[in-house]
Amino acid sequence: MSAPASTAALAYIGLGANLGDRGAALRQAAQALGRLPGTRLVGISSLYSSAPVDATGPDYLNAVAAVQTTLAPLQLLAQLQALENAAGRQRPYRNAPRTLDLDVLLYGAVRSDDPTLTLPHPRMHERAFVLRPLQELAPQLVSAAQLAAVAGQAIQVLQGAEWLDG
Ligand code: ADP
Ligand code: MG
Repeated sequence: MSAPASTAALAYIGLGANLGDRGAALRQAAQALGRLPGTRLVGISSLYSSAPVDATGPDYLNAVAAVQTTLAPLQLLAQLQALENAAGRQRPYRNAPRTLDLDVLLYGAVRSDDPTLTLPHPRMHERAFVLRPLQELAPQLVSAAQLAAVAGQAIQVLQGAEWLDG
């Protein structure tokens, strides 16, 4: 008998941290993504450093991960929030510095205007720290015009995708 058709979706997750041991938080989070139920880590971007956008505070470390997952969109969000909480995430005010931020950038071709989970992520196209790493994994999803629009944002590559392996 043949295996059932896969219902896995390809999703892109934005990872960020600007408090505590940022590198350890991102590494642990990326590895944890691959251990979520029904989920496989299928891609990781370079590691970036970026200045906060619309906020003050320490610089961020950022990356984007690609996962293949059978979790439904809201299940995936709940799992990401559990990882944020496990990393000590607190939410004192909007855009506050954070030990770990995990955003669903894209979930397949799903579009949603639900404020609990808006897809694609509503601010992803305004942020160099999303577009630059996403472009590495999915160049067809990022246009030159979008990159040009965020060219003024302070961001640099710290390490290639091998950052995750140590
Ligand atoms: P930020 O917008 O700075 O990442 P938070 O991580 O605190 O702020 O998220 C605030 C809320 O955004 C969450 O409670 C979540 O329900 C909602 N949200 C809406 N769309 C998304 C998305 N695509 N990915 C992650 N969170 C989202
Ligand atoms: Mg978030």
